[in-house]
Amino acid sequence: MQQHMRAARQRRTSTLRSDTFRALHEHEHKLACYCPTCDRWQVLDLERLIADGRGEYCFVGREPRCSYCRGPGVWQLRPPVMPPRSYGSVQS
Ligand SMILES: [Zn+2]
Repeated sequence: MQQHMRAARQRRTSTLRSDTFRALHEHEHKLACYCPTCDRWQVLDLERLIADGRGEYCFVGREPRCSYCRGPGVWQLRPPVMPPRSYGSVQS
């Protein structure tokens, strides 16, 4: 039992490291931030951020800041869109 739990935890930590702009971009994720004050979405231009030398920026644990009201926002990670097939087989 103990060993089983440890194995499960290891599997989780060995999944992709996606806490930097570069890692997200390489895995075709998109990063957006949302400002609840302005009710505004902004999708980050990861390619440009990496070109600007900010590819290793670790956004996890930090708050995005709204460029309009300077208020704190929230990150939203958007994984690549999967074809419906990958959700599993459906019995017909
Ligand atoms: Zn705002």
